[in-house]
Amino acid sequence: MVTKNQHIPLSPIKRIEDQPGYRSVYFSRPKNFEFHAGDWMDIHFENLELIGGITYSFSSSPTEAYLRISFREGISEFKKALQSLTPDQQLYISQYGNDYDFQLKKNQSSVLIAGGVGIAPFRSMIKEMYDNKGKNEVTLIYLNQNENFLFRDELDVWSNNLPNVNLHYISTKELNRKKREKRILSLVKNPHQNFYISGPPGMVDSNEHLLLDSGVHVKDIRIDSFGGY
Ligand SMILES: Cc1cc2nc3c(=O)[nH]c(=O)nc-3n(C[C@H](O)[C@H](O)[C@H](O)COP(=O)(O)OP(=O)(O)OC[C@H]3O[C@@H](n4cnc5c(N)ncnc54)[C@H](O)[C@@H]3O)c2cc1C
Repeated sequence: MVTKNQHIPLSPIKRIEDQPGYRSVYFSRPKNFEFHAGDWMDIHFENLELIGGITYSFSSSPTEAYLRISFREGISEFKKALQSLTPDQQLYISQYGNDYDFQLKKNQSSVLIAGGVGIAPFRSMIKEMYDNKGKNEVTLIYLNQNENFLFRDELDVWSNNLPNVNLHYISTKELNRKKREKRILSLVKNPHQNFYISGPPGMVDSNEHLLLDSGVHVKDIRIDSFGGY
């Protein structure tokens, strides 16, 4: 569900470069602010109208004390402002939540397919499972253009402590489409699971079609399409 027409103050704590080309911004968590792993928020600068994408998945988990977004560096006015954000600046959330039930279902098995920074909502989900000792069966298929997988170190630590979570990192640089699709399908043993796809629109569309063509039912596929890339 999306909670709309809000004006929830958002104070930056810090910004970091996760790795070259990727950044995160941490915000203080507003008092009593609850969200689900998989949710996104629309954020704005107080008294500033800037051009650019304003929707960001929470890369932090509901179990963490702060809110965090993670994004690819960009050139839009909004991205530039995020990239030079200072703690004295004030932002606000206008809406948050998610439209497509983009949340892990308890006691069901799930396949998460991330493309690049599309890993953000899945970091939130897996961190929440780690903190709550979750037992869900989860297969993460993480596609990236090179070997620099965002959050890899912490994902590995968490999954080592979660016997039902399996991670597969696929660098797509050396793979043509056919090989990439073959690799993905080899990891999808059972079409009767919950599938979640997150990343740039082209990646989301192609993987959604791949799953549909392989017999996955449309009702079992949930997407988070990062428009703007
Ligand atoms: C539900 C949802 C969740 C989302 N979650 C996230 C998230 O967690 N993280 C995230 O990053 N985005 C997320 N997005 C997308 C986000 O809202 C922005 O649309 C996206 O980050 C692009 O930002 P931007 O339009 O400000 O432009 P920019 O990032 O500045 O990009 C604008 C255009 O310029 C290109 N570009 C960028 N840098 C360069 C360069 N150096 N040289 C040449 N061209 C360049 C880009 O490819 C793009 O075509 C989400 C979107 C939705 C709908």
